[in-house]
Amino acid sequence: MRFIRYLDQNKQPAFGWVLEDKAGRLEGSPFSEYRRLEPEWNLDQVKLLAPVNPSKVICVGRNYASHAREHNVDVPELPLLFFKPPSAVIGSGHPIYIPPQSNRIEHEAELAVVIGKSGRWIPAEKAREHILGYTIGNDVTARDLQRSDKQWTRGKGFDTFCPLGPWIETNLDPADALITCRVNDEMRQMASTREMVYTIPQLIAYASSFMTLSPGDVILTGTPAGVGPLQAGDSIEIDIEGIGVLRNSVKLEPARST
Ligand code: ZN
Repeated sequence: MRFIRYLDQNKQPAFGWVLEDKAGRLEGSPFSEYRRLEPEWNLDQVKLLAPVNPSKVICVGRNYASHAREHNVDVPELPLLFFKPPSAVIGSGHPIYIPPQSNRIEHEAELAVVIGKSGRWIPAEKAREHILGYTIGNDVTARDLQRSDKQWTRGKGFDTFCPLGPWIETNLDPADALITCRVNDEMRQMASTREMVYTIPQLIAYASSFMTLSPGDVILTGTPAGVGPLQAGDSIEIDIEGIGVLRNSVKLEPARST
């Protein structure tokens, strides 16, 4: 099943669901009880929000050996976790804004896990029970600031630096899904999720050993080789087999209104 979020007629975020090229309302929430109402709109007429509003976005650094190699660093001995703030999250179709502080913005195409059930000390073999589904993430990074700041908070944390979407797919085998990333139709990244160093159950077990995972939390599982620059005017498409396509344009951040 595919869950979406959109703005309803009162401009409030609401959950919906997708059936082929149609979308319908959801009574309730995918994180508790829900009822699917008859699909009533064409999917391409629905303005999608990010499919979830997470309390935290947990990211994994260097989880593909190919990406660690292109930055000349080793694969870490434990998962290397960091956060993106929830304020960075945008949906498919929303522009990524290049902030004035950076001269080097890069894309990182990633499989994103959406937590469905709260948990602490989740054993790897029970991780599946805590997953609602999967979506596509782009861990947009100001590479120059990531390098010059000792912490990654700023380089990873600007508004719009966490596109998620287009929806949550509950029916996916994440062990061997093809990820591709195109910028203006030029292929930049292509890899299978089977190349991950730490598997999704291992990441959930490790993260939940020190923090409670809550419904709606998102884990970005790391990016394969091929990260590269984004410029104003670019359009970026990240495709994950079995989920769909996350599309975003790139613009300069609009002038600050003070
Ligand atoms: Zn990343």
